[in-house]
Amino acid sequence: MRTDAFIDGRYVPAADGRTFATVSPRDGTEIAQVARGGAEDIDRAVAAARRAFERGDWAYADPAARGRVLVRLAALMAEHLDELAGIEATDTGHPIGDARGVDVPNAARCFAWYGEAIDKVYGEIAPTGADALALIAREPLGVVGAVVPWNYPLIITAWKLAPALAAGNSVVLKPAEQSPLSALALAELAAQAGVPDGVLNVVPGYGEEAGQALGRHYDVDKIAFTGSVPVGRLFQRYAGESNGKAVSLELGGKSPQVVLADAADLQAAAEAIGWGIFYNAGQTCHAGSRVVVARAVRDELVERVERFAAETFVPADPMDPDTVLGALISTEHLEGVMGRVQRAAGAGARVLVGGERAEPVPGGAYMTPTLIEAPDRRDPIVTEEVFGPVLVIQTAEDTNQALELANDTRYGLAAALWTSDVRTAGRLARRLRAGTVWVNTFDASSMATPFGGFRDSGHGRDRSLHALEAYTQLKTTWISLT
Ligand code: NAP
Ligand code: MG
Repeated sequence: MRTDAFIDGRYVPAADGRTFATVSPRDGTEIAQVARGGAEDIDRAVAAARRAFERGDWAYADPAARGRVLVRLAALMAEHLDELAGIEATDTGHPIGDARGVDVPNAARCFAWYGEAIDKVYGEIAPTGADALALIAREPLGVVGAVVPWNYPLIITAWKLAPALAAGNSVVLKPAEQSPLSALALAELAAQAGVPDGVLNVVPGYGEEAGQALGRHYDVDKIAFTGSVPVGRLFQRYAGESNGKAVSLELGGKSPQVVLADAADLQAAAEAIGWGIFYNAGQTCHAGSRVVVARAVRDELVERVERFAAETFVPADPMDPDTVLGALISTEHLEGVMGRVQRAAGAGARVLVGGERAEPVPGGAYMTPTLIEAPDRRDPIVTEEVFGPVLVIQTAEDTNQALELANDTRYGLAAALWTSDVRTAGRLARRLRAGTVWVNTFDASSMATPFGGFRDSGHGRDRSLHALEAYTQLKTTWISLT
């Protein structure tokens, strides 16, 4: 297991020798001590990244050559599936079946996708008179800082690294303190695949230390951040107080699942709603954490979601291949989620089911699937991201009120709509304020579809060719032909 920082092609301890514990929420035990990167380590990593960028063996290589390296990295990840999945499940409490079947393959697919795509991205020739040739080309930014959360460490890391590297940038990645291990393992595979020294650096550590140092660094050209709204704002501040670097933000959400009275298949909706909030114990940025349901079908829908959740999402040992609902990321986070439910209950909300701690493995951070109904739509349980297995039920009297309730949020990451009327679907899909709107499904996506938020959920997009815009800048070359 790799626990040191990866800088300039080598694993190295923190400059001052400090470490921190990464803990498994499966049972609360320490997995390993990991290098606690600080400002000096970030300096070294940024310097290595800059040297590599100036050297040009990656930045100016034939895009097809960079692409082959990324495709090779994807193949190495598949070869190391068991090892990577084991690390991810142990460090985060994800069910091992999901880590093997979803996290590692999706992350690998992301590297392959950008590797396959990058030599098919063309520049432009601007319209000019015959006395000039004006070329518009996309060039890499230089040194990209990537800062990621703990909820899908490998997938979100891949969403940043793959387009950034494909475009020719050098990267310094700061993984979350709760889940540094899979990124550290990935660095070794990237080097084996042929990513040159200094092009990819991984500095684990605390947000206030390594994360802040990266955000404030004068020689970092861009920060690609995924995480919470307040920390996203901090990165904008760091940029403003240093070199004005570009910042893209993928932040949280409180995504509505709108179920209208004419929904064709309430059981399909109930199951999609269950998966949409209880998968990964609700620790998903676009989790469908609010149901906005028409009164006519409210009781039947809630009853079906309750039944499906009780049958499917039973807290269990993440290392058991049959487990669907594993641990939350930490005991502290679990207590935070339980506290939010208890505060809402104290303020008049009704816990319909769940809200309890579970202990399938002693010392672990587990919670039962929870449905809650709050009479006050300003209750924080309705307006704030909980990031746990907690589904809020809101009832609407008609379609207009459903739309109004769905949009009554500062966030705008995703929304879903269940209706059998194509006109209603089209009309509401246009008016729902979210970066992704699903109709009669939830969480369908591919590498070809952009993902990101409106409003407080951020700006910039992961996935698809559009993500390359976040890691490139346009250069105009005007050639006189006279
Ligand atoms: P977070 O607290 O914002 O942390 C995200 C990253 O920022 C971590 O690496 C963290 O380091 C670092 N960080 C924390 N405080 C910092 C500071 N003062 N200065 C610099 N860096 C700092 O978020 P989280 O709790 O890990 O993740 C959950 C959040 O991510 C949720 O809001 C979720 O919705 C969001 N998310 C969004 C998307 C999306 O694509 N829109 C995807 C997944 C998750 P430490 O680990 O040391 O704290
Ligand atoms: Mg951990």
